[in-house]
Amino acid sequence: MERNDRTICATGRDRGGQVILFVLAAVLALLAAILWLADLHVAVLGKDKTQNAGDAAALEAARWQGASLNVVGELNLLHVLALAAGDADAAETISEAAVRASFAGPVAGAAAAQQAAKLNGAPANDDFTEFVRERALVVRRGYGRQLGGEDAMPEPWPGAWGEYSSMLDALADEGVAAGPDNAAFFDDPSGSHILLNQGFYAAVLGRSWCWFHWAAPTLLDDYAGWSWWPPLPPEDDEPPASSEFLSLHLRTAEFSGGDLAVMPGLPEAFAAEGLPDPFSEGFPDEIAATNPAPGFLLYRPSRWGAWETMRDPSFPIEGKLKPEYDYAGADAAMRVENPVRRLTAPEADAGTLVWTGAAKPFGSLEDEGGGAEPPTAVPLVLPVFEQVRLVPLDAVAMQSGGAFDLAWRRHCREHLPKYLERGTGALVAGCRYCRALERWEAPSFRLAGSRWLATNSWKCTVSPPGGGPGGGSRHAH
Ligand SMILES: [Zn+2]
Repeated sequence: MERNDRTICATGRDRGGQVILFVLAAVLALLAAILWLADLHVAVLGKDKTQNAGDAAALEAARWQGASLNVVGELNLLHVLALAAGDADAAETISEAAVRASFAGPVAGAAAAQQAAKLNGAPANDDFTEFVRERALVVRRGYGRQLGGEDAMPEPWPGAWGEYSSMLDALADEGVAAGPDNAAFFDDPSGSHILLNQGFYAAVLGRSWCWFHWAAPTLLDDYAGWSWWPPLPPEDDEPPASSEFLSLHLRTAEFSGGDLAVMPGLPEAFAAEGLPDPFSEGFPDEIAATNPAPGFLLYRPSRWGAWETMRDPSFPIEGKLKPEYDYAGADAAMRVENPVRRLTAPEADAGTLVWTGAAKPFGSLEDEGGGAEPPTAVPLVLPVFEQVRLVPLDAVAMQSGGAFDLAWRRHCREHLPKYLERGTGALVAGCRYCRALERWEAPSFRLAGSRWLATNSWKCTVSPPGGGPGGGSRHAH
């Protein structure tokens, strides 16, 4: 609170400062709403109970992702105003508030999604709840541990890991009914690997040789035993700037006044929000020296790229996807598992219905000609996210390490490292993915695939399901 008092003294002198304070108060009220409001009016009718619960949870989660992005966007604009007013203290406070919002908002969204799932009949899932509690422990004990005098995982703000793990504990206390299936854990592998691709295991178990033809054409012939595999990709080394659950996929960067003055779309953004134009009287480049860390929040380009190429044709926008909506980025995939007595779903163990609902916040910017373009046309996050829609699950980017598909996650995190170190002897009985690897290790199995493809690959006319022109689905890669 001390810092806020200082901010008031430092910025209350001129008009620009008063505007900052006014809008900051408004944004803090919005933040409070994000943290405490849990009033839900979600109803999806006409589908089975599990699907209703998953879809309702995903819509609610995506709504909060959109709200969180908007709060971050407001704070980015305030940050520019603070810099224009030469107030480094305010800029620092605002910048830190934006990073906090990018953690607190999505976790609050995950909590709201639980209520949506429960209102639609999904019971709390003990395995999910236990998993969230385990994650809280990993954050508290693991991320903050010291490695060579430094935190294993850099803290996005002082005390962040303590606060963040408490949020996860609070989520677990209520009982988790819907697991965010596209959670992006900071200690997950950052790249792809065939052993982290569920399609590989499905192809082995189902003898789907065409999968190899499309996804890994030389693997059947090249493979020479478990020590042949390249090592698993390392953890992502970019400092975390958004929650693991329902991540907004943001990063931080500092900009000079000169950078900001020439950034297209920014003057329009101030006008749209009814804020004064900080660029009207020039924006001296020396301001750069006063722009404190962590800086502004930006869309992470590796996650906010074009979406058109990987979309499912059943995406519920008729005709061609509008160019202003052609971006990936923040989305919510909420998994609900309902135990049933007689029904089974193909993707689940007998006796469990599984549904993962997917939804995404959408927004657009106005371009110079009065048309619309994607929010990512301006690198800074801006408050433009206005609607939420269900999207096909295949359109959602999944982490390769697995999230709330707990059997898959256990295989990736616990079984694979041992297998890569010690070979087939380390495979675990009772794990279907380990069973696939055991089958894969038999030379006769791979030879059968090779032989079949040598004469039958012309039959592989259809690329793996969910794939766009590039082939392959984003789901579970
Ligand atoms: Zn396994």
